[in-house]
Amino acid sequence: MQMSRRQFFKISAAGLGTSGLVMMGAYSGEAHAEVRAYRLSRARETRNTCTYCSVGCGVLMYSLGDGAKNAKAEIIHIEGDPDHPVSRGALCPKGAGLLDFIHSPGRLKYPEVREPGSKEWKRISWEEAIHRVAKHMKADRDANLVEKNAEGVPVNRWLSTAMLTASASSNETGILTQKFMRSLGIVATDAQARVCHGPTVSALASTFGRGAMTNSWVDIKNADFILVMGGNAAEAHPVGFRWAIEAKKQRGARLIVVDPRFNRTAAVADHYVPIRVGSDIVFLGGIINWLIKNDKIQWDYVKAYTNASAIIQEGYGFDEGLFSGFDAEKGAYDKKTWNYELDDKGIAKVDPTLQHPRCVWNLLRQHYARYTPEVVADLTGSPIEGFELVCKHLGETCTPDKVGTILYALGWTQHTTGAQNIRTMAMIQLLLGNIGMPGGGVNALRGHSNIQGLSDLGLLSTSLPGYLPLPNEKQHTTLDAYLTANTPKTLRDGQLNYWGNTPKFFISMMKWFWGDKATKENNWGYDWLPKWDKMYDVLHITELMYQGKINGFVVQGFNPLASFPDAHKVRDAFSKLKYMVIIDPIATETSTFWQNHGESNDVDPSQIQTEVFRLPSTCFAEEDGAIVNSGRWLQWHWKGAEPPGEAHSDQEIIGELFVALRDLYRKEGGKGAEPVLNVSWPYANPKAPTPEELAKELNGRALADIPDPADKSKVLVKKGEQLPGFAALQDDGSTLCACWIFSGCWTQAGNQMARRDNTDVGLGNTPGWAWSWPANRRILYNRASCDPAGKPWDATRKLIAWNGERWAGADVPDFKVDSPPEAGMNPFIMNPEGFGRLFCTDKLVDGPFPEHYEPMETPLGTNPLHPKVVNSPAVRIFKSDRERLGKHTEFPYVGTTYRLTEHFQFWTKSVRLNAIAQPEQFVEISEVLAKEKGIVAGDWVKISSKRGFIKAKAVVTKRMKPLTVNKQTVHQIGIPLHWGWETVAQKGYLTNILSPAVGDCNTQTPEYKAFLVNLEKA
Ligand code: SF4
Repeated sequence: MQMSRRQFFKISAAGLGTSGLVMMGAYSGEAHAEVRAYRLSRARETRNTCTYCSVGCGVLMYSLGDGAKNAKAEIIHIEGDPDHPVSRGALCPKGAGLLDFIHSPGRLKYPEVREPGSKEWKRISWEEAIHRVAKHMKADRDANLVEKNAEGVPVNRWLSTAMLTASASSNETGILTQKFMRSLGIVATDAQARVCHGPTVSALASTFGRGAMTNSWVDIKNADFILVMGGNAAEAHPVGFRWAIEAKKQRGARLIVVDPRFNRTAAVADHYVPIRVGSDIVFLGGIINWLIKNDKIQWDYVKAYTNASAIIQEGYGFDEGLFSGFDAEKGAYDKKTWNYELDDKGIAKVDPTLQHPRCVWNLLRQHYARYTPEVVADLTGSPIEGFELVCKHLGETCTPDKVGTILYALGWTQHTTGAQNIRTMAMIQLLLGNIGMPGGGVNALRGHSNIQGLSDLGLLSTSLPGYLPLPNEKQHTTLDAYLTANTPKTLRDGQLNYWGNTPKFFISMMKWFWGDKATKENNWGYDWLPKWDKMYDVLHITELMYQGKINGFVVQGFNPLASFPDAHKVRDAFSKLKYMVIIDPIATETSTFWQNHGESNDVDPSQIQTEVFRLPSTCFAEEDGAIVNSGRWLQWHWKGAEPPGEAHSDQEIIGELFVALRDLYRKEGGKGAEPVLNVSWPYANPKAPTPEELAKELNGRALADIPDPADKSKVLVKKGEQLPGFAALQDDGSTLCACWIFSGCWTQAGNQMARRDNTDVGLGNTPGWAWSWPANRRILYNRASCDPAGKPWDATRKLIAWNGERWAGADVPDFKVDSPPEAGMNPFIMNPEGFGRLFCTDKLVDGPFPEHYEPMETPLGTNPLHPKVVNSPAVRIFKSDRERLGKHTEFPYVGTTYRLTEHFQFWTKSVRLNAIAQPEQFVEISEVLAKEKGIVAGDWVKISSKRGFIKAKAVVTKRMKPLTVNKQTVHQIGIPLHWGWETVAQKGYLTNILSPAVGDCNTQTPEYKAFLVNLEKA
C-alpha cells in the first residue's frame, strides 16, 4: 500500500491515532512520516495563505495548546494546502520557511521607544505608546492642517505627517487604515504598490479599462506561447510558474525568456534572448513593426474590438522624440491633441476601412516603422535571430485558435518608462487578439501577497477605494465638479461605459466614511475629505523630509530605508523627523536607521533627534482576514495562534490610535475637529474593529429597502441586508459600500471569500474557490473570447458564449449579461468607447504611443533614435536628485537589481531557513568583466554609484554577458537586494544605496532596474 504523507495524516486523524504504533510497525519504511503524523494528530489545523508573494499559495498551519485554559496556541508545523487550486500543496522555499518567519528572532514583542539622541530602545506600555503617539499627531495636525486653500476651497489637508501602509496586511486592515488616514486629512501617503506595480495600473487601465492582471495563475496552462520578459517568474513566483510548465506539458507551449540575465526561468525555457536593461520599448516596438510588416494581425478582432479605426484630432503628431504639445519650461505635455475627433454629438469618429491618414492604425504603423530589426539589435544588444524568433512565435498567435500570454513583473515597471513598457505589450496582445482569451492576456505578476488588494483599496496619495480618485483642490472644488469630471460620457453608441456609474460608487463610499452624518444636504460630507494639491509619492515624501518639511512619519508594515531608492538620502531625511512610528511584526532597518552599523550605516545616534516608537503587530498567522492574489482572488484566512509577547493586530493599533485622537479632540477641541468627530466608527469595540465587521463594510449593505429595477413594486434588497453586488449600489444614500469593486464578497449568503469548492468547471476555472473582483469574474474582458456574433473564436477554448438569451459559460461574463451580439456592445466595458486602446488618448502623461527613452543614467550618453531627446521628457525628478545622477564616463557599468527565490524582499533575512539558503550578499558579473577587472569568484568587490557604495562577494558567471550596443560594449552587473543589518544571516549593505531617486513619468515608480555603477576589487 502506497500513500502520501498527507493521506496518511488524514487517516490517522480520522481515528487511527491509537493504532498509529501498529501502523509504525507495519510500515517501517514510512517511519519518518509516521513520527510527524503522530505529532500533528494532536494539533489543530487552520487554513491560511502564504504571506510573501501574490501567487497566494494555500497553507495549512498546525498549532498546539489551544485546548487548555490559559494555554497559548503555538504553531508547530506548516505545509501546503493540497486543495488549493493554484498551489495544490506546493510551497516554494519561502513558503516552506513560513514557520521560521512566525518564530523569527526578529519578531517584535513589546512597544518600545527610542528617545531623541539615544543609542537604545526602551520598553514602554501600550498605554504610554498610544498616548505619546496620539499627542505627537494631534500637536502636529493642530499646527499644520490646511483647512482651506488660498481660494477658500475646503481642503482638510495634513501634510506634515506622512504615512506608509503595509503590503501584506489584510484588506480589512487596509480599509480601516484608509478611513483613519483620510479622516485626519493625511495625503502624504503611499504604499508598496508605488515602488512595485504602479505602472501596471496606469498602463493596463489606460489600455483595457482596469489596471489588473487580466487572467489567472491556472489559466496560464491554456497558452500556446509564453513570453517571460520584464520578470523572472520561475524565481519570483515559483509556484504560480508551474502553470507555465503545465502549458508546455499539456499543449506543447513554447516558452521564451528575454532578460538581461540567463535566469532561472530561462533555464527551463525553450529559448533565451539577452537584452540591455532599459531598452524594452525598442524590443517591443520592434515586435509591433514586425507584426505589421508581416501581416500577423488578427484583423477581425482588431477591427471590431480595438480603436484602430478611430480618427485622432488634427494637430496630433510626433517629431524628433517629442509628441505634440510639449512645454519645455514645465517639462510636461498639453495633451489636448491626443484625443479622438468627435462628431457634433460628441461621438468618436471612426473609419472602418482604416484608410484615413489620422486613424489610429495609420498613426501606429508610422510610429513604429522606425523600429526595424536592425535598430532593435543595435539598441537592445539582442541578437536579430533571437528577436525574430520571439516575433515569429508571438505572430503565430494571431490566428483565433492560437493564444499567447506574457508574464512580467518589476523588470518592466521599475523604469522611468515603466507604464509605457507594459503598454507596448498590451498593444501587441490587442493586435494578436489575445486579450479576453483563455491562455492569453497581459499577466502582471504582482509582488507582495496583498499589494493587489491594497491597491484596490486606494492606499495611495491621490486615490480612494475602487480606483476612485481623491478629490483635487483645483479640478474638484465641489461634489458636482468631482462627479462630472469622473463620470465619463459614452463616446460611441451602445457602449456600457461602466464608469458612468461613478456617483453610485462614490456616494455609497461616502456613506461608509461618514455614516448618518453624510446627507444630501451636506453633499455626503464631501468637504471633509482631504483634497490633494500635488502627488505625494515616496520620492516626494522623501524629498519633503529631506527639506525638513515633514515632522512625523507613520510606517506600517514597510521598510522604506531598504526599499526606497538612494538609501543614504532616505536616512538623512529620516534624521530630520520629529517623530516616527513603526508598526511591524519584525525588526526593520527603518526602525533602527539611527543606529551605527559601520560602513553600511555610518551615523552618530547622538546627532539624530528623531523620537522613534516601535509597535509590534501580528503577522498573517495570527489574524483573520482576506488578501487578494495577483489573479484578483480575495482569499479569506484564519488565525492559527496568538501573537508573541504583547503584539497587537494592525486593526487594534489603528483603532486604539484613532480612539485616543478622537478623545483628545473631544476634550481639547482643535483644528479641523469635524472630520475626526464625524467619521463613522460603528464597531462593537471601537478600539478593535473586527475583520468580519470590516469585510462586511467592504461588501456594502442597504440602508433602506432597495427596489428591484425590473419591477419597482418589489424589493431587491431589504434595509440592513448585505448587498448582492455592485449592481445594487445607489446614488441617493440608500447604500453603504467601502469599496465598490469588492461588493459581492460578503453577501447575505455569507463570506464568499471563504468558499473552498475547487471544482474545475472548464479550462481550469474554479469559480467556487474564494471570490474574485469584479463580480467573481476570473478572466477580464472575456466577451472578447468570442467573435462579434457571440461565438467563441476557438471552440476548444470556450469560456463564455451567447446562448440566444444571455451570455453564459465557465466564467462569469465580464459584460452586460443580456446584451445580444447584434447590439454592438464592445468587450472593454470600462472604456467609454468600448474599445481596447492601441492609442491610449490622453490617459498617460508621456504619450499616446510608447516611445523609447534611455534610462536617466544611460550607458550610451545618447539616444540614437533622437539624440536631442535622450531621456523621457516627462520624467519625475527633483532638483536635489538630479544632482545625484552619475555619468557613463565616471560610472561605466549598468547595475540592475532583483530578488532571489529563497528570499522575499527584506523580510526573509530574519527567517532562519532562508538565511541558511542564501546567507551572504553577492553580485553577479560576467566572466569578461571579471577578467578585465582582475576579479575571481568569491572576491569581495565594491560597487559604487554616484550615491554611495556597497560591498559584496563576486559571483563570476556565464549568466551575464557583455552586449554590443550602439557599437560599444555594455557590461551589466546583477545586484540582488535582500541584505541589511536586521538579520539572522550575514550582515550586509542596503542595495538601494546605489539606485537613483527618479520615477516613472506616470506613476513615480523608481528606476531600480537601470542605473550606472563602477566596480572594483574591495
Ligand atoms: S512565496 Fe509565493 S510562490 Fe512561494 S509559497 Fe509563498 S505564495 Fe507560494
